[in-house]
Amino acid sequence: MSILIRNITAVNADGIQQNTDIYIEKDRIAEIAAGISQTAERVIDGTGLVAFPGFLDLHCHLRDPGLTYKEDIRSGTRAAAAGGYTAVCCMPNTKPVIDCAEVIRYVLRQAEEAGYAEVLPVAAITRGMGGNELTDFPALLRAGAAAFSDDGLPVAKDEVILAAMRQAKGCRALLMLHEEDLKNRGQGIVHDGQNAKKARLAGIPRAIEEDMTARDIAFAEQVGIPIHICHVSTAGSVQLVRDAKKRGVRVTCETGPHYYSITDAEILDGNPNAKVNPPLREETDREAVCRGLADGTIDAIATDHAPHSEEEKAMGIAKAPFGMIGFETAFPLTVTHLFESGIIGLTDIARLLSKRPHEILGRNGGELKKNTAADIVICDMNEKFVYNKDSVVSKARNSPFLGMELKGRVCYTIRKGNFTYDRQAD
Ligand SMILES: [Zn+2]
Repeated sequence: MSILIRNITAVNADGIQQNTDIYIEKDRIAEIAAGISQTAERVIDGTGLVAFPGFLDLHCHLRDPGLTYKEDIRSGTRAAAAGGYTAVCCMPNTKPVIDCAEVIRYVLRQAEEAGYAEVLPVAAITRGMGGNELTDFPALLRAGAAAFSDDGLPVAKDEVILAAMRQAKGCRALLMLHEEDLKNRGQGIVHDGQNAKKARLAGIPRAIEEDMTARDIAFAEQVGIPIHICHVSTAGSVQLVRDAKKRGVRVTCETGPHYYSITDAEILDGNPNAKVNPPLREETDREAVCRGLADGTIDAIATDHAPHSEEEKAMGIAKAPFGMIGFETAFPLTVTHLFESGIIGLTDIARLLSKRPHEILGRNGGELKKNTAADIVICDMNEKFVYNKDSVVSKARNSPFLGMELKGRVCYTIRKGNFTYDRQAD
């Protein structure tokens, strides 16, 4: 198929081309220039719209295999495409855990069949995510693992994370670390602050995240490997990463849209969809996360898309599982809370949602460039809409953003020259 996108603003991390055309032939971008005279099977008028390189999510939960009542690879990647994603990293806390080649092959096969987005499986660091015995990194890399994580759980034991880092160094594997001092978290379910007290809910102090982050940065420095810190949520964590980068530690990190869009005020009415781990923090943390995104301390925006069933979230904030869906709101929340307020610009959106995620994984892509894969998301930066339940593509509905008015909308997602999302058709 051939596609011609006319008169669009094409945005890369390193610059903007205004009033340009993009010509796609089969799975490649054949040309980006003004006034392309090719005919195409499909022509899109890009007037007033913006094209970014397809988004890559470093962190999501597709719940497949084994937990498909929450989400599956087809429904999850379809939701990802609706959010502008052309590739997603899925975390291994499935049933069974992604800790062997067979499960990786299953995930890759399901993703291929669905065709909505490339799925990059993140394999477990320890067998069954048990925190003790390391998985076989080289064998998992050969099977297609994109990185390694026990996400959902920390690798608690010092000797185990050190052994994991040494193994990672030997085979150039990337560790993505969920930083949480679980043994000191106790019964905490929301951020430990004034709002937790008002709501009479047990708190999770910032130190639960920061102590582990500091430990792993120190170990990575000692072993001499790159590490990636998942879902940074506190001002202290942002500062730890900023300081480490300054002294040359190869640490990268991500945050989620919920950490720069809302605060722990959301828990006051007991909304179970505002229960997430790490928890929503205070305004000072939110501001620090915004600064970290603007100055490059935080490398990437990752959704931590964590679908749960209505029954699970109906158990109430105290008992419901942690997590919220995120594919379909990541871009509008970024426009509403970062772009509209002038914290970041258009090129930063391309950097945070596409270019840096590709670089962190050591992959080519994340650029709108002649002769590269036609992975493109076309967006309207100005359209306002109310995010409502009926519009959700994911199998799950657990979002604290339901009912909110947001600005910025994905219109089309194109992956390898095929439309994986077309809002007009949907
Ligand atoms: Zn996590």
